[in-house]
Amino acid sequence: MTGLPFDYTRQDASGQSCTALAWAKAPKPLTRDERATLKERARTLLKERGAVLVAHYYVDGDLQDLAVETGGCVSDSLEMARFGRDHAAQTLIVAGVRFMGESAKILSPEKRVLMPDLDATCSLDLGCPADQFAAFCDAHPDRTVVVYANTSAAVKARADWMVTSSCALSIVGHLHAQGKKILWAPDRHLGSYVQRQTGADMLMWSGDCIVHNEFKGTELELLRQAHPQAKVLVHPESPQSVVEQADVVGSTAQLLKAVIEMDAPEFIVATDNGMFHRMRQAAPDKVLIEAPTAGNSATCKSCAHCPWMAMNALQGVIDCLEQGSGEIQVDEPVRSQALGCIDRMLDFVKAHPAAIAKPAQGFVPNIGAA
Ligand code: SF4
Repeated sequence: MTGLPFDYTRQDASGQSCTALAWAKAPKPLTRDERATLKERARTLLKERGAVLVAHYYVDGDLQDLAVETGGCVSDSLEMARFGRDHAAQTLIVAGVRFMGESAKILSPEKRVLMPDLDATCSLDLGCPADQFAAFCDAHPDRTVVVYANTSAAVKARADWMVTSSCALSIVGHLHAQGKKILWAPDRHLGSYVQRQTGADMLMWSGDCIVHNEFKGTELELLRQAHPQAKVLVHPESPQSVVEQADVVGSTAQLLKAVIEMDAPEFIVATDNGMFHRMRQAAPDKVLIEAPTAGNSATCKSCAHCPWMAMNALQGVIDCLEQGSGEIQVDEPVRSQALGCIDRMLDFVKAHPAAIAKPAQGFVPNIGAA
């Protein structure tokens, strides 16, 4: 494995670490009345401005509910972009992190894409700067460049293929069967999982998701012993010791599907705990247990919730609708270059539905992303 590990304690211009800055900007808890007032204001503005709210499963539950109630969607990153592209609204409000807003803009360049807070980013994106990644690619011109959805538009512009967590196995397996050697970025855990499953020759970037990287294999074993009936659902951005204990390994959409469809009373879930909002709504009779992280110790930076997802708030939605703040721009030629690797993936998925649907170590058939 190679690449450049990202230092989460790196100081930014204001003297705070990236994660500390994100937590500081996360909204304070609101009273029930305050939430209802803000939600009503956001609902009115969405209607007045002809905008649609597209939210990720990891953001605040009020935002998820507002999206559903106003005809928007709550989904994974790829579906968010596809929904925004196919919706008639000319203004998209993307509640999630920056690469999701960029993906929406790449697929819908004619639309206005606004985000509640443009500082909401992702450790995988932060840990893979475009200039350093380009140098890495230049040093290995014999390799096909495959990047995960959780990357900047500039990194996607340098890639041959983009993949999501549910089609990564099929696409890398397809390239491996053609005798291609892979340069993979940025998530080392997902890359390692795909490498183990496909046997492909993969040179890895060494990024990770600050949330999933903290799930602990030993503590998960102890939790499973205490809940022998529970099925274990794991997002493949988690470490190998956690993935190896999974009954289902899959994207957010796939894990949600597993909770709904599997005949089990309890689930231990290793993904961001923002996901529990939709899971509880979709399967109210199921018991959901958070997979263990390091706990509230000095080594736990997320405690199973993404600090950048936490920055998304009702007030941010109101601000961008009232003031036009938080607009995403992806300049040419980066946009059209990035579109190339996304379109290649979409074309592959369309042409190989059986390959996508084929279960692999517990993958639930469906397409999804981070
Ligand atoms: S949960 Fe992880 S992969 Fe998702 S946005 Fe946060 S840091 Fe990135």
